[in-house]
Amino acid sequence: METIQESVPDKSVPVEPIVASSMSATPVPARLSLPPKGACWYCEKPLDSVRRFCGKSCADSFDEEAEYNR
Ligand SMILES: [Zn+2]
Repeated sequence: METIQESVPDKSVPVEPIVASSMSATPVPARLSLPPKGACWYCEKPLDSVRRFCGKSCADSFDEEAEYNR
């Protein structure tokens, strides 16, 4: 019996820093105002408690949908 390992995002993958950027002049992407909920906001994949998305592709996809729903 082989153990099927789920592919886990590498820890070296850059994660967006948790910063209070609401005071900056740069528009804040919708996803940055979301609280980390322990799962990917886009695909619901379980994550650690500080991340919102399992990867950049999910974050990007979420952003795209947020744009359309504006
Ligand atoms: Zn995801």
